[in-house]
Amino acid sequence: MRANSLSQPVTLVLFGASGDLVWRKLGPALFDLYADGWLPERWIALGVARSALDDLAFRARLLDGIQRFARRRPDGALKETFAARFFYLRGDYDDASLYTALAHRIRILDAEGNGPSHHVFYLAVPPGVTETIVAHLGEVGLVRDRDRDRVVIEKPFGHDLASARALNARLRRFLDERQIYRLDHYLGKDTVQNILALRFANAFFEPIWNRQYIDHVQITVAETVGVEHRGGYYDQTGALRDMVQSHLFQILCLIAMEPPVSLNAEEIHHKKLEVLRAIRPIPPDQVSAYAVRGQYGRGRIAAEEVPGYREEPGVDPQSNIETFVALKLFVDNWRWQGVPFYLRTGKRLPVKASEVSITFRPVPHRAFPDTAVQSWQPNRLILRLQPEEGILFRFQAKIPGPVMRLQPVDMHFLYEETFGNAPPEAYETLLLDLIRGDTTQSLEAAWVETAWAVLQPILETWAARPPENFPNYPAGTWGPPEADQLLAQDGHQWALPTILEEASPSIGGHRA
Ligand code: NDP
Repeated sequence: MRANSLSQPVTLVLFGASGDLVWRKLGPALFDLYADGWLPERWIALGVARSALDDLAFRARLLDGIQRFARRRPDGALKETFAARFFYLRGDYDDASLYTALAHRIRILDAEGNGPSHHVFYLAVPPGVTETIVAHLGEVGLVRDRDRDRVVIEKPFGHDLASARALNARLRRFLDERQIYRLDHYLGKDTVQNILALRFANAFFEPIWNRQYIDHVQITVAETVGVEHRGGYYDQTGALRDMVQSHLFQILCLIAMEPPVSLNAEEIHHKKLEVLRAIRPIPPDQVSAYAVRGQYGRGRIAAEEVPGYREEPGVDPQSNIETFVALKLFVDNWRWQGVPFYLRTGKRLPVKASEVSITFRPVPHRAFPDTAVQSWQPNRLILRLQPEEGILFRFQAKIPGPVMRLQPVDMHFLYEETFGNAPPEAYETLLLDLIRGDTTQSLEAAWVETAWAVLQPILETWAARPPENFPNYPAGTWGPPEADQLLAQDGHQWALPTILEEASPSIGGHRA
């Protein structure tokens, strides 16, 4: 059943309406939801920012974004009825009179719509203004209704444990935890949500999903891009804060969590939090044995010369910010004791790919002769989160012929092949959750703080000891050599993302 027959009327207030996120992601995602009939019958959006726009100019900007980035091709009539739901209010977030005007405007819109609606305040703004906006909303009574009013905050949530705790404490002065929707768009991806389906809607994974059968887990989130237009932001943040604390830890939790009793928000939050709490603390004097940092220098991506990080616009030419991180973590519980989880992420790596590779333990005894097993590989389950989204299972098979020779082959499920089209944009799923008031994909305060607590020893050690060898990997390579050593000391190596294997027949298995 589509949501428009279920949902309450909604007023979406978009702070940061003139910004990149609204233009590139939120406007197009709303349009696709609207075109597919997912939005409630009564909804409107009120954009707020400093730029001198009026309703018409705001709508024109939105339509431009939709034209470029929406999944659906906007047709004339649909475009017009969609755009007519958007309004604009100009103001500075520091100015108390903006919020009085906003409250007035919302009252009028509610009255015109025959009654109060749910109010979703989406803060698509730089992190520094979040608290100001929430405090003003609280002071004018706009977030008083615990059931109808909610606030969406984009990551990052703080920049370390102390700042995250302080931010959460200040938000709690005006909001209940269930009114706060901390958004990490990665969680809205179908492939990330499918990890729950894979593990808990199928009987045969659970019995082998543990230390007895799994040798180690690798999570790779690789980007080919540099900092693009976000050099100023990135140079204050780095890969550990920007990617590991949020996206990679979420994937880790979905892979490692215990089976939930139900899919309700509280239960999922609880099970994910248990994973973070079980992560073995990294001793501050042993950080280098668990964590590797890197920064890219000049290099080549797809045969094109690209500048080094320190040459990027908005970046300090002496910057010591890391653009690459590799980590080794252990989850100290019955299920995972002794199983390493290797995480890596970086910018300007050779390929854009997000993949989880689960390597199973070798067979206890190899009955096959050496000649049969030359390309033997342990069984692997590979979750391709993006691109070419899907799941591969790699196992040994006999090569047809008179002698026994084995070769790894893949069974695969590809979203596009099975379902016909690419998964929807993460923001579509998340916006719909917001409108429904479903907080399952939101990050709760305790999770955010625990994630920072895990990383705190690394943050502190790295801050105290600036790197001496940055830049330490050329753009277009897989990070610094220390990242390989991190695994080599355990007898492992990083798995090449499988989308690269297919381009190189000497590496990959064949499709079963
Ligand atoms: P932009 O810099 O493009 O936009 C910021 C917006 O905030 C503008 O509309 C700006 O208004 C408004 N703004 C900032 N300060 C004030 C103020 N004091 N008073 C009134 N308006 C103000 O940022 P993005 O859209 O890129 O990012 C917004 C948030 O979303 C950030 O937290 C970012 O980390 C997060 N995010 C962004 C992604 C993206 O793809 N862009 C992806 C994931 C997260 P004006 O310009 O009119 O002054």
